[in-house]
Amino acid sequence: HPADPAALLEGLNDQQRRAVEHTGSPLLVVAGAGSGKTRVLTRRIAYLLGARQVHPGQVLAITFTNKAAAEMKERVAELVGRRANAMWVSTFHSMCVRVLRREAKTLGMTSSFSIYDSDDSKRLITLVARDLDLDPKRYAARSLAVHISNLKNELVDAETAAGNATNDLERRVAEVYVEYQRRLREANAMDFDDLIMRTVELLQTFPDVAEYYHRRFRHVLVDEYQDTNHAQYTLVRELVGTGRGTGEHAVPPAELCVVGDADQSIYAFRGATIRNIVEFERDYPQATTVLLEQNYRSTQNILTAANAVISRNPDRRDKRLWTAMGDGEKIVAYVGDNEHDEANFVAGEIDRLVDAGIANNSDVAVFYRTNNQSRVFEEIFIRLGLPYKVVGGVRFYERREIRDAVAYLRVLANPEDTVSLRRILNVPKRGIGERAEACVAMHAERERVSFNTALRAATEGRVAMLNPRSQRAIAGFVELVDGLRRFVDDGQDVAEVLDAVLEQTGYRAELEASDDPQDASRLENLTELITVAREFTELPDAPEDDAPEGSAPIETTGPAAGTLAAFLERVSLVADADQVPDEDDTGGVVTLMTLHTAKGLEYPVVFSTGWEDGVFPHMRALSDPVELAEERRLAYVGITRARERLYLSRAVVRSAWGQPMTNPASRFFDEIPADLLDWRRLGPERSSPVRATTFGSGSGGGGGGASRSTFGSRGTRSQATRGWQETAALTLEVGDRVNHDKYGLGRVVATDGQGPRTTATIDFGTAGTIRLMLIGSVPMVKL
Ligand code: ATP
Ligand code: MG
Repeated sequence: HPADPAALLEGLNDQQRRAVEHTGSPLLVVAGAGSGKTRVLTRRIAYLLGARQVHPGQVLAITFTNKAAAEMKERVAELVGRRANAMWVSTFHSMCVRVLRREAKTLGMTSSFSIYDSDDSKRLITLVARDLDLDPKRYAARSLAVHISNLKNELVDAETAAGNATNDLERRVAEVYVEYQRRLREANAMDFDDLIMRTVELLQTFPDVAEYYHRRFRHVLVDEYQDTNHAQYTLVRELVGTGRGTGEHAVPPAELCVVGDADQSIYAFRGATIRNIVEFERDYPQATTVLLEQNYRSTQNILTAANAVISRNPDRRDKRLWTAMGDGEKIVAYVGDNEHDEANFVAGEIDRLVDAGIANNSDVAVFYRTNNQSRVFEEIFIRLGLPYKVVGGVRFYERREIRDAVAYLRVLANPEDTVSLRRILNVPKRGIGERAEACVAMHAERERVSFNTALRAATEGRVAMLNPRSQRAIAGFVELVDGLRRFVDDGQDVAEVLDAVLEQTGYRAELEASDDPQDASRLENLTELITVAREFTELPDAPEDDAPEGSAPIETTGPAAGTLAAFLERVSLVADADQVPDEDDTGGVVTLMTLHTAKGLEYPVVFSTGWEDGVFPHMRALSDPVELAEERRLAYVGITRARERLYLSRAVVRSAWGQPMTNPASRFFDEIPADLLDWRRLGPERSSPVRATTFGSGSGGGGGGASRSTFGSRGTRSQATRGWQETAALTLEVGDRVNHDKYGLGRVVATDGQGPRTTATIDFGTAGTIRLMLIGSVPMVKL
């Protein structure tokens, strides 16, 4: 693939070009939002391969989400073809997993180790705290988990934490930390923070290993550098190397390029520190810094608003960001009487923009501060039949049935995975009660063996106090798991193995026999998981090129594509933002997400909602200037996602914890120059959202029609309140046929909820499968 260097620099301004062409010393690109930092990173990789003859295997690029990684790889592949596959483009976590799988033995683990997510790790911490007799009221597992995570992000290991502890809390945390690590090791498992910390440990402790990666990665690139924590910062340093090795260990440092924006640092609660970007030149004394000043994303009005808000933050370096896009529309501001009214306004505007041909659903994003705020939007979007996707929140992989199925797979891949083993021990119920589990755990404790070993001892009657019935049940379980493991050893596809698990454990049969409607959707989710597994197996094996001459050999380091280990790895490492729908595969859905998840993305139309003091900025920030500065950065991130149109809204009354709360306007409103805002306190008399006006009517059929009260008048609110107390207007059962005003004929595939919460999932054929609320006036009749 001979690439023309000039073509690789096309569509870049002078500063961007400088960053792409820069050779040698560490490079920092700092710039405000939308100035092309990510574009520079992608182009730089292409340029390295196309113009500087760098081998793809020598490139390591770190992005914030797996999805961004895939996109970047795709774009580079367009330029250099299949060779792009040898590049490592991934998140910090995925990259560390690849290294750790390869080097597991060095750390005394096996390469089939399990990855514990925050829920697994909380479970294990709960067990540890219970065994240490800690008072769960004083030492909640959740808070212990946060303390331990913080220590890991600072690269403080358990023994050091124990040595450093100066007060009671610290001593307790350290005690739990030490035991938690021991159990992780015993379970052949690592938590998310371990992935980073242990990779650092590996590189710092084993010069040969470090040398291997130094020879391999001659180019290290990091996006969103402002959100790195201390552990990640150290990892980058270790990967780049100092070049100070002697003799055969002398490898010059890799070329480093990081891009970021201190004003967009929003992960302080995970230990991220802008210190890393602010002091880059101190960390790397030879560093070159490139500033980008032109924004290519947003209109001037949007940019001016963003700059005005962020300029209120103390201790920041001011940036001059300009755009050639023109002023554009004013920013629309709206005050809803309550959160339903606010959501109605949003839905109505989306409808209007789509009807006017100004935007498609997929051009629109709705942001909020915390996940629970999505519920109101979902209710109203479902009612209006506005297709949407919520990113984050309760995720697919966090659902109970999915976690159960994955736990079975994990146990098959890693027999010592205690958390997963204990999760499925009696799921579905097979007569291994809590008491029996406790006997086994006690045996493990006393004999200092793993839970798995203790289970096997139980089958031979070597566990004290275990009654014969439990013993038989445990023997049956062990036999079941061993039998299933043979499917894996025989090289069956993941989908096949999963199917066998659901069949042989009786999990599927139990759900099928249930008449709880939730179980029907559980079955659907499991079918979905099998589909995911099947698609996964069918992925082509990514070939990796031969090593370039003179460098270390490049091996396939991940588990082979399509294997159970690879599948589990993917399941463990999906991030919220990985679920952001692609523009082309959706047929147009509105995307709902938190401000945090929105980082790095852009949309032609953005609704940033819940602009209330106590919601956004968050309650915590109202009395804490440090937290407030972080919230302001979040506002800056949110505003700068918008390309053409920005809406800011709030609700006067919002229910929180079941109580109506009256919140004042967000102080961030006052920080935006007044002449940029177009206030629409009382809604205009535009058409749509037709059905929202019929909240209280309660009858079937079309009803209602547009009325002025749609937008936030008192009338709507009280009607809406009444509406939510109603029972479902239509009673539907699975299999019923319906005719919907908008989607036509359909068949009910599932129902869920009760009373005003009743929903039906209906297959409308080519119009898709859609979940609708059945409350109020439903524009649909049963046939
Ligand atoms: P953020 O801080 O939000 O991550 P960023 O600095 O990474 O933003 P990009 O996402 O790389 O910015 O670019 C913003 C938009 O501007 C993208 O749509 C990108 O394609 C476009 N863009 C960047 N540079 C140029 C350029 N020189 N000419 C035209 N468009 C550009
Ligand atoms: Mg970016």
